[in-house]
Amino acid sequence: MIVGVHPLAGFDKLLHYRVPGHLENQVQTGSLVRVPVLNRLHLGVVGEIGAPKDFPIDRLKNVAQVVYPFPAMPPDLLQLARWMAVYYAASLDGIIEAMIPVAVRKGAGIKEEKLLSVTRTATPDELAALEKRAPQQARLYRFLAQQFTPQQKRLVLSRLGLTAAVVAALVRRGLVQERNRRVIRDAYAEDWARGELVAAKPPRLNEEQQTAVNALTAQIATEKFGVTLLHGVTGSGKTEVYLHAIDTVLQAGGGVIFLVPEVALTPQTVARLRSRLEAIAPDHKCVVWHSHLSEGERLDGWLALAAGEARVVVGARSAVFAPVQNLRLIVVDEEHEPAYKQDETPRYHGRDVAVYRARLNHAHCLLGSATPSLESYANAQAGKYRLAELRQRVDARKLPHIDVVDMRVEVMRSRGLTTLSGLLVRALQDRFEKREQAILFINRRGYSSSMLCTECGHVEECTHCSIAMTYHRSDEVLRCHLCGDQRRAPLVCPKCRSPKIRWRGLGTQRVEEAVRRVLPRARIERMDTDTMSRKNRFREILGEFRAGKVDVLVGTQMIGKGLDFPNVTLVGLVDADISMHIPDFRANERTFQLLVQVAGRAGRGDRAGEVVVQTFTPQAEAIQFSRHADYAGFSAAELKLRKDFHYPPYRHLIHHLFRGPNPEKLQFFAEQWARLVEKELGAQVELRGPTPSPIEKIKDEYRWQLWYFTMNVSKTIPRLSRLRADFKWPDDITQVLDVDPVNLG
Ligand SMILES: [Zn+2]
Ligand SMILES: [Zn+2]
Repeated sequence: MIVGVHPLAGFDKLLHYRVPGHLENQVQTGSLVRVPVLNRLHLGVVGEIGAPKDFPIDRLKNVAQVVYPFPAMPPDLLQLARWMAVYYAASLDGIIEAMIPVAVRKGAGIKEEKLLSVTRTATPDELAALEKRAPQQARLYRFLAQQFTPQQKRLVLSRLGLTAAVVAALVRRGLVQERNRRVIRDAYAEDWARGELVAAKPPRLNEEQQTAVNALTAQIATEKFGVTLLHGVTGSGKTEVYLHAIDTVLQAGGGVIFLVPEVALTPQTVARLRSRLEAIAPDHKCVVWHSHLSEGERLDGWLALAAGEARVVVGARSAVFAPVQNLRLIVVDEEHEPAYKQDETPRYHGRDVAVYRARLNHAHCLLGSATPSLESYANAQAGKYRLAELRQRVDARKLPHIDVVDMRVEVMRSRGLTTLSGLLVRALQDRFEKREQAILFINRRGYSSSMLCTECGHVEECTHCSIAMTYHRSDEVLRCHLCGDQRRAPLVCPKCRSPKIRWRGLGTQRVEEAVRRVLPRARIERMDTDTMSRKNRFREILGEFRAGKVDVLVGTQMIGKGLDFPNVTLVGLVDADISMHIPDFRANERTFQLLVQVAGRAGRGDRAGEVVVQTFTPQAEAIQFSRHADYAGFSAAELKLRKDFHYPPYRHLIHHLFRGPNPEKLQFFAEQWARLVEKELGAQVELRGPTPSPIEKIKDEYRWQLWYFTMNVSKTIPRLSRLRADFKWPDDITQVLDVDPVNLG
């Protein structure tokens, strides 16, 4: 038997090996094997059985080892990897590595326990003799004979105060058997034991939910590929719809992948989900998958899925690669979240990969959001996806009231920049007196420096690209980092001539200080990337907040994800403008999503919620539509804009980054390259740039970038790749392609 293997050795080739006779029945497509490459053993995945015709097979080396007795990569994952390698212009072995967790690739550390059970019933005579001559053996035998299931050796021996020699003697008599069972290590076992995961009683579905469930169930029953976009306002009970769909699939013997944007940040959601899932299918373990698991936990979860012992996995982005058997349904919760895009190689989008994997399996993909991405919504409008809508909150609770504060007026009133508006200060004081809680969001995206006039709210935008221009401090210019257009940074507002120009947003610390000044007796906690770097501090603060020990929580939008605090009746968004003026065509979409999601955090308990949004541009559509959570209105306006400027979802965008130590050389090659692409692919690809990146230099490396707009990624990428391979790149220039990037800023 000859097999083609993709060795995970960093050179992206298929090599052929001979399978020795004793391993033949263990090898199939997708098996994880060890093979010799240049006198070293490397891990590899069997990509094909057999060899091409006329292949010189006599000098082939042997496969050294088969790591697991089942394929590490089911056939659909191999197909998925091949598609991703083309679509995302990534190496196949890099993708295979991303699909198989490190712990699994190491293949080590499987934990086993010994189980004892009775093999046959002892005759009365035998038992009587045993009682007399070996009372300890008799005691152990009688104990085991009373049990319905095999018992853990360690526990039995310590409970009965016996030694392993007693077991051995019974085994020799043929009365008892010992066997190994793989232990599934479980990060959530402790929570379970502490009773934190008590399954909530499933609520009754309302009419809208029932309609959505019925449509989904019918879809799933067809066993054909399909995508449903579940658009439900915040608090409309989307999770219940997911759970019913999952239930249907599990009952029919299928497997499920449930993706959430960030597992580590939403332990509450995951715990609740898991307890419900285990209540639905008590005999099928639910595997939770995320980056904070120990290697052992990851390995065990993965093995349980690959061996078919578990059929549901809940996890972040990379769980889309879980080796789930008979995959029938993939749920992508909060499908609009940029967190689904991986920002390092391979730069795939978890949602898009989920849709493709569902297609390969003739399975159903269910995308859910209160604020769907315009990509998904446009697909629903075009009839490619089915649309299911939940317009009411469960129990018909009202959406919270949103107050928009015009910060230009506040600036005039206070004769200077203020952090908190009068309205927000009064609301904070009011909640503090009532012993209710408040959350203040600061909307901070990694990089943001656009020009904002605090007098009239004007933001300088590129006339060609309709995105905010970026301020470059080094040469005092405003530059569009899509097309490269630039102008001198103005000293006064180009629109109203005011000199009151602001270049940066507020930090969490400054907001915390401002709250302290107005509420000196309140307990205030701050959560941002600083506090996040200490993993447990994050959970601690949330725990204290939930217990009511904290009055005001100040943090970046990450604290808003899926958290549910019934005592929060005020949510303030201190600086709504930042997201609107990030240099990104998705700026409005992000702002609308942020506002609607943030507002959804207020008033989830019995009390009504209030939301205060501070902005210098209250007239902006993203803000006006979000006041009434008017998704239809917003998406219609925004899609028109996208169409006018030929942005996604009407075309695909590909980002090409060049890095190098010498800025002149970098610019020269970036421009040479752009000229070549223009000449060869100009008919099907529109180029913008090359320009310096918004961050021009990182760790002594300069950065330039180029954008491609195309209707068809799968056609463009192979052509680009061929050109790239032939182009004479200097050694000190590295480049990265990013297909369908989610952040341009
Ligand atoms: Zn102005
Ligand atoms: Zn431009």
